[in-house]
Amino acid sequence: MSLRGKKALITGSTSGIGLSIATALAEQGCDVMVNGFGDAGAIKTLMQDLGGKNRIKVHYSPADLSAAAGVASLMAETKAQLGDVDILVNNAGIQHTSPIEDFPPERWDAIIAINLSAVFHAIRLAVPGMKQAGWGRIINIASTHGLVASPLKSAYVAAKHGVLGLTKVTALELATSGVTCNAICPGWVRTALVERQIEARAKERGLPLEQAAVELLAEKQPSQRFTQPSDIAALAVFLCTEGAANMTGTALPLDGAWTAQ
Ligand code: NAD
Repeated sequence: MSLRGKKALITGSTSGIGLSIATALAEQGCDVMVNGFGDAGAIKTLMQDLGGKNRIKVHYSPADLSAAAGVASLMAETKAQLGDVDILVNNAGIQHTSPIEDFPPERWDAIIAINLSAVFHAIRLAVPGMKQAGWGRIINIASTHGLVASPLKSAYVAAKHGVLGLTKVTALELATSGVTCNAICPGWVRTALVERQIEARAKERGLPLEQAAVELLAEKQPSQRFTQPSDIAALAVFLCTEGAANMTGTALPLDGAWTAQ
């Protein structure tokens, strides 16, 4: 089955993992809604590239997903520009690290809002159209931190564990509808979100950046290599194929054996 003409919404797709997934789905012929923050010129170039190379429709929404109203406006804009969403990739996410007793409550609220509540709002608004179509794919970008914990990441770990619970409930409710819901759980991926953690480690320990990156991997990820955004995109594309039609409610690690330990 070709994905040409399917309507895909990828939240947080102006950089990193989301950008890679949007590119891969565009290459499969999906019309795509890009969302996230970033430099206006770079976003314009990205959209021209995606649309021109793949002969697809591309739209961009800067909707801020930290409030339910932002998610609702993104869903409405997607419907107006492309039609009902067939493929929803909940990818937007942020991080903050701090001991729990010092964790700023407003950072907790923002992480829960963007990394967890926005996933719920997007799913609840996408499901009616998918049910009606009798086909849909919901892909939640969780994390190894949906399966296991690390210190200093209370909000992120709580949100990502929540995403896995939400994935299971959604899969159960939609089990006979032709709509699947799965979570991908990447280990370390060298995007802006992780680069900040590598920089902090380098500064804290007085290490060159690359040495800090090697140490970060050594601590958690036995393969000693970063997962590539394109690895995650390839798995997301597979989840959209008919081969994955009966794969639902899963949490799929892409973590170099991090969670095998
Ligand atoms: P990134 O910082 O490169 O990308 C995050 C994206 O989300 C950007 O497009 C950003 O503009 C967007 N975004 C942030 N706040 C937003 C908001 N309020 N509203 C709308 N968009 C917003 O980071 P990334 O590493 O590509 O992360 C993508 C997802 O992958 C996140 O959910 C993250 O938790 C998850 N993840 C990342 C890693 C990793 O090692 N990088 C590992 C596991 C899971």
